[in-house]
Amino acid sequence: MDLRDLYQEIIVDHNRSPRNFRKIDEHTHTAQGFNPLCGDKLIMYIVLSGDVISDISFEGSGCAISVASASLLTERLKGQTVEEALKTFEELHTVFTSPDEPEDLEALGKLGALAGVRAYPSRIKCASLSWHALNSALNSGGVTASTE
Ligand code: ZN
Repeated sequence: MDLRDLYQEIIVDHNRSPRNFRKIDEHTHTAQGFNPLCGDKLIMYIVLSGDVISDISFEGSGCAISVASASLLTERLKGQTVEEALKTFEELHTVFTSPDEPEDLEALGKLGALAGVRAYPSRIKCASLSWHALNSALNSGGVTASTE
């Protein structure tokens, strides 16, 4: 199985059975994301304990890419510090917006599966929606993030 097949499999798996797909009533931070181009809608819930993301989840509906991306996000960031989470956001943002093939795709781990959307500009908004919502939740405590 080559890397491309593996990445495809990760997207399909995380869309079919999204991780951390639930509401956290006792969240400390939340933000909504909406991608009008595709109709993707989601809401992120975060529990910060000090500087650590002790719990993170999402709810919503959208295309396979947007759901898989949100699922991968929660899986990756649970237990990380805010600083680490924002660094991962920056890394992924660079991957999405750079025309070049990422130099070290494997360093992204499963998140590398999202790099494939670079070839389809309209899908970048689907993949980055949950990350923008996360960013605004952490930075402002909860406003609607839009990809527009
Ligand atoms: Zn979408």
